[in-house]
Amino acid sequence: MAIQPATNRKMDELNAAFCDFYRCPEAFATFTLIGKLSEGSGYFHFGPDTVCYGRTSPGFRAARATDELYDVGNDLVADGTTLGLPFNPSEISANLRYERYASKSDGPGTASRAASALRAGYYLARPLLPVSVRKHLQRMRLNGWKKIAFPHWPVDTSVERMFERLLISLLQVHSVERIPFIWFWPDGYPSCAIMTHDVETARGRDFCPNLMDLDDAYAIKSSFQIVPEERYSVSEAFLSAVRDRGFEINVHDLNHDGGLVCDRQRFLQRAAQINRYGRAYRASGFRSAALYRNLDWWEDLEFSYDMSVPSVGNLEAQQGGCCSVMPFFVGKVLELPVTTVQDYSLFHILNQYSIDLWVRQIALLSKQHGLLSFIVHPDYISEPRAQDTYKSLLAYLADLRSEGKIWIALPREVNQWWRDRSQMRLARRGSNWEIEGPGSERAQIAFAQLEGKSLVYRLDPGYGGGPTLPKVPCDGRWENRNVSFNCLP
Ligand SMILES: [Zn+2]
Repeated sequence: MAIQPATNRKMDELNAAFCDFYRCPEAFATFTLIGKLSEGSGYFHFGPDTVCYGRTSPGFRAARATDELYDVGNDLVADGTTLGLPFNPSEISANLRYERYASKSDGPGTASRAASALRAGYYLARPLLPVSVRKHLQRMRLNGWKKIAFPHWPVDTSVERMFERLLISLLQVHSVERIPFIWFWPDGYPSCAIMTHDVETARGRDFCPNLMDLDDAYAIKSSFQIVPEERYSVSEAFLSAVRDRGFEINVHDLNHDGGLVCDRQRFLQRAAQINRYGRAYRASGFRSAALYRNLDWWEDLEFSYDMSVPSVGNLEAQQGGCCSVMPFFVGKVLELPVTTVQDYSLFHILNQYSIDLWVRQIALLSKQHGLLSFIVHPDYISEPRAQDTYKSLLAYLADLRSEGKIWIALPREVNQWWRDRSQMRLARRGSNWEIEGPGSERAQIAFAQLEGKSLVYRLDPGYGGGPTLPKVPCDGRWENRNVSFNCLP
């Protein structure tokens, strides 16, 4: 029987989001709800260090993440192989990914009328402001970003940690040694990286050939997000030159005036224009200006994937974040979250010209097997100091790739992979598991198991994928990919 695509499922099913995340056999996801869920939503803990937002049956829910939080970790009830939960994991993951926690308070992500007016004025004046003035204004506006407790800077993995805790509990109630699932990335890669370039001005556009040279020097292909209107002219020759070199073209906002999501009617008009440009550019991906977003409206974007949501948006114009470092579906659109600091913020807000912060984020993301996604602007890296920093990042990523630690791909390839994976299923064949579905020749079976108190993922060394892939050798390289990772006590 064909499995339903992730997007067609009812998100209020208790096990839907969990099963979509792991692609494990549904027979293992034996959740049931215990008690009556509260009327209102709020923050709570699931285990000592995982913050959630939503409705629960026991305890209390806090208005702010910094308040004292009730921990539901001790309220799970095992009944045979059924795991009773005091919350709905599908609801909680949606609340975090779609930033519903932010709009419910005066916290980050709220677009007040005053803030909208200020933003409109700023964007009107922005083309006239030199970077030295802009960064000063932005630093003033971002004053206090370090004090934002949630999402957690510099990488937030609340969604993944919630799923891991559930997986640990399932291993315990089923009394099984291990639970199989479809590994997150193709060919058994531990993590994945994408490089993306938003082209802001005519100067940036004219630097694109140089930027492609820089990327090519490290054999890294990237995507270029193009502003279709008002900023600069976009010729077919320019688009072809990018495509012909194996890079990808996407649409970046409509006119980059910062007003995309201020008003619903205006958004719909602009979305229609943006969709037309998407077809004209043959682009499958979109990113809004300055990561302004309202995911409730994203259904009107006719793109296969979007890249407008930061994992943790402390340094972004619209704060908040999806608290996740893995792709996820927003209706029919796949979201590839922005999981690292943008070059502009690194250079002009933090005043750093080293890759230390990127390296720290890469380490945290890799630990979680997450998506490493970068935004580097051709507009900001033409000057030598910034360019040297960018080259160091490229060299660092190329090294990780040569060690077999990351799959560096175009965003559209990641989109295709994640869509394929969302259609795959694990089927029992005698005493073995097999992956079924299109694209499964690149997929790997993984097993989750407990070692002491740690949750460990291991790839199945006996599973070589399909006919086009050789069996993965049980040598040092393979060992590298047997990842035992963050311990969840
Ligand atoms: Zn931009």
